[in-house]
Amino acid sequence: MTEQLPEPLDVIAVGAHPDDVEIGCGGTLARLVEQGLRVGIVDITDGEPTPRSSGPEQRLAEATAAAAVLGVAHREQLGFPNRRLLDGFEVRVALAKVFRRFRPRLVLGLGDKTPLASPDHAQAVAITEAAVFYSRLTKWDDTFAGLPVHTVPHLLTYFLFAGVADLPSGHWPLVVNIHGFLDRKLEAIRCYASQFPPEKAHVYPRVEALARTVGLMGGCDAGELLASSRVPCTTELTRLLWEV
Ligand SMILES: [Zn+2]
Repeated sequence: MTEQLPEPLDVIAVGAHPDDVEIGCGGTLARLVEQGLRVGIVDITDGEPTPRSSGPEQRLAEATAAAAVLGVAHREQLGFPNRRLLDGFEVRVALAKVFRRFRPRLVLGLGDKTPLASPDHAQAVAITEAAVFYSRLTKWDDTFAGLPVHTVPHLLTYFLFAGVADLPSGHWPLVVNIHGFLDRKLEAIRCYASQFPPEKAHVYPRVEALARTVGLMGGCDAGELLASSRVPCTTELTRLLWEV
């Protein structure tokens, strides 16, 4: 029997590890929640092991606390292996099942590889793109346990510390004004005490500096960079221009 579907989420943000979403688009998510949207987060791996964490339970507790700070309605981990995450059929289907179950209107995914950090991020780029596609494919009910097809109308990407200067080719930048939400973003990142202990406290001024730089690019005092493979298109030009 087909499972009962939960209440839909308007937006789902996908990370390779717990803390990716907070660093890349935490301010955007907090703002969307404040605007009344139902937002969810999917972490493809549990992010463990890492040097200073006691294990998956601690990391999950940190992720749960961060989700509460951002006000998201749902967060889940898919359970694929950290450090050796590889794009493949099983993980694509697992993520597409989440999209079919929660029917988001917008998916936010990682936008680029991180050459000096985890290669899982680059895999997550491909996994998320494929899962958005798989979510809408018909005649595949057995693969998706009878979950209905769902077309995700929008996929935007977010970036970790790299990516301000160079967007992947064919992508169009978009700055989300996170004025009033930068503190909440930083508070969410602070929930990950195992990842950012005192000796890594330089992360916070870096996150703030990046938000200020991106804000300058967009004409606001703090921002987050998103990218779209489609040229952004609006019927509300004046609202887009004058809301700041
Ligand atoms: Zn990560």
